[in-house]
Amino acid sequence: AKAAGGNRYEIADAEADARAITRHSLTMALPMALDRGEFFIEYQPLVHLGDGSVRGAEALVRWLHPQHGVLGPDRFIPLAEDTGLIVPLGRWVLEQSVRQAREWREKERAGDYTGPLRVNVNLSPCQLTHPRLVQDTVDILERAGVEPGALCLEVTESALIGADDEVLKPLRRLAEMGVDIALDDFGTGYSNLANLRRLPVSILKLDRSFTRGMQHFPADPVDQKIVEGIVSLAHSLDLAVTVEGVETGHQAEQLRVMGCDTAQGWYYARPGPPDRLHELALVDAS
Ligand code: C2E
Ligand code: CA
Ligand code: CA
Ligand code: CA
Repeated sequence: AKAAGGNRYEIADAEADARAITRHSLTMALPMALDRGEFFIEYQPLVHLGDGSVRGAEALVRWLHPQHGVLGPDRFIPLAEDTGLIVPLGRWVLEQSVRQAREWREKERAGDYTGPLRVNVNLSPCQLTHPRLVQDTVDILERAGVEPGALCLEVTESALIGADDEVLKPLRRLAEMGVDIALDDFGTGYSNLANLRRLPVSILKLDRSFTRGMQHFPADPVDQKIVEGIVSLAHSLDLAVTVEGVETGHQAEQLRVMGCDTAQGWYYARPGPPDRLHELALVDAS
């Protein structure tokens, strides 16, 4: 559909499109989309709260649909999970992201960027239980010549709740190799905090809902207490805390004071092309 006029028309048009695109048609188009190279990845910087330096980025996949334009992952990841396409799609995202990390590291070595820049990649539960996860990851790292420490795999808290040792084994092997494992959307899954010790994770990614509680001054006192509690527990277990959804400097400052280690959000940068990270991570010439 063509957008002829101003924003109003475009918005109405997008809504009509959204209704017209059925789950069914998107599901049918997914396998071809991978073959045709319609997916692309945007990267959102991860910023060290202590000194404001860029430490890496999270890879977020998008689908440039030939008729419907750019679709966000919430539109198609659930469909890919239902059909099993998430396995080859997830492998593609991992491969692209690791190659990107190599490129960043090369710039670093050349002295153009502050380092070390790392890449975070989301893993869906189906990938977690796939028998080739460890071998695929090892192969991808080796082919790209990237050390495991440059990769962080993000797994949601809900995927690991009640996970038995069989499910945790591959993650544990990856962690032993030096790949970081982050527990994503932490605080939404009602997991037993004592359970954390059992998981091979080194980073807690606090869900955006907590960051929202820091939007106003004074911050929501309950959220504040919860975040402080999680941070002190995490640090006592030697886990780093990353916060997502930071939209204002005020939130960033509060979360820094509360001891959070790393932040991600629109305040720093929206997800974007990999070169944007280069700009943000430019070595300060002064
Ligand atoms: P997530 O892992 O929790 O990723 C963070 C989401 O928050 C991203 O949405 C990001 O664009 C958005 N975000 C970042 N900063 C802000 C902010 O300051 N304010 C607000 N309101 N939002 C912010 P996105 O890109 O739409 O991704 C949605 C979800 O899709 C991700 O949530 C992740 O669970 C999933 N996803 C994305 N890429 C992949 C992938 O390659 N594989 C898998 N399995 N899942 C993916
Ligand atoms: Ca994530
Ligand atoms: Ca998250
Ligand atoms: Ca999320």
